[in-house]
Amino acid sequence: MYRAVIASLAACIALSVATHPASAAGEVKITPLGGQDGEFCLLDRALILEDPNGTRILYDAGRTVAGAGDPRLGEIDVVLVSHVHGDHLGDRHTKTVNAGSCAKPDTSVSATPNSNSVNIAVAKKAKIVTGSEMPDFFAGKLKAAGGNPEDSLLARFGAVRTIGGVGITTVPAVHSNGLSHEFIGGTLGDAMKDAGIAGYVGAPTGYVLKFSNGLVVYLSGDTGITAEQDTVVRGHYGATLAVISIGDTFTAGPTEAAYVINTLVKPTAVIPSHANEEATKNGKVLAGTKTETFIKAAKVPVHVPLSGKTMSFDGTGKCVSGC
Ligand SMILES: [Zn+2]
Repeated sequence: MYRAVIASLAACIALSVATHPASAAGEVKITPLGGQDGEFCLLDRALILEDPNGTRILYDAGRTVAGAGDPRLGEIDVVLVSHVHGDHLGDRHTKTVNAGSCAKPDTSVSATPNSNSVNIAVAKKAKIVTGSEMPDFFAGKLKAAGGNPEDSLLARFGAVRTIGGVGITTVPAVHSNGLSHEFIGGTLGDAMKDAGIAGYVGAPTGYVLKFSNGLVVYLSGDTGITAEQDTVVRGHYGATLAVISIGDTFTAGPTEAAYVINTLVKPTAVIPSHANEEATKNGKVLAGTKTETFIKAAKVPVHVPLSGKTMSFDGTGKCVSGC
C-alpha cells in the first residue's frame, strides 16, 4: 500500500514536471546588443530574444553588432529586419564591442552592399524573416554573400510563420522603407544616387512574436502612432511585452510612444528602443533624456535595455529577473 502510494506520487511528480516545466525553463530571455556594455546608447536597436526551447532570434542588428564575428551573438536561428534603413539593416558597424563612446559610437566598418544583417545570417546559417517586398531583396543578398537564397522567408501582414516553435508575423509601421543606393551598387546604384531616389521594397514593418511560454512580444520597428497598435497588436495578438522606438524626428517621440503603450497596446511591460541619444551613464538613466521622459510618461514598468544585460520574461510579460 505504502509502496503503491510512493510509486503513484512519483509518477504524479514526473507528470507534473513534464507538463509544468520549472519556471526558469518557461522564460524568454532578451539581451540587448548595444554599443557599450551596460549602457543604452545612440544607435542601440539590436536584441536577441531566446525562447525557452533555445530558439534564438536576432532583431535589427543595425550598426552596434560587430559583424558576424561578434562574440555576443552565439547561435542565431532567425534574423529579423523591420525595414531596410541603414541603421537597422546595418550599412556599417562597429569594429569591436565598446569601440567609440555611447554618444559617438564607432561605425567604421562598412557592410555594404551586403549589410550586417545578411552577413550575420550567412555566417550563422539563419533564416531571414521579413514582410512586404523585402524577401526577394534578401534572397538576392544571401545568394551574393554565399548563403542559401531559400533562407529568406516571407511573413506578410496577418500571416504567421513558425520557426523553432516561435510564431512570427509582421504588423504595419507608419514610416518609410527606401533602400539606399549603397545596397544596390553598380550603375543602377549610381544612377539612383544621382537622382536622389531610393529602391522600393514595400512597406516598413514591426513584428509580433509568440513564444512557447505564451509570451507575445510587439517589436515596433520605426513607427509613428498606428491604428493597428490598438486593433491588431493588442486587439488580435494581445501583446504583453512591447519594444518601442522613442527617438523622435525619425519615429514617434517619447510622449507619443507613451501614448501608444498606455492607450493602444497596453502591455504588461515595455522596453524602449531607438532613443538616438546617450541615455545612460554607468547604467543609470540620465536626466533630461528622451528615455527619462518616456519612463515618466509610461504607466507600465519600463525596462531600459542595457547592453549585454539579459532580462527574463514570463508568459505574461512580467520581468522575472535581470530588470
Ligand atoms: Zn527607419
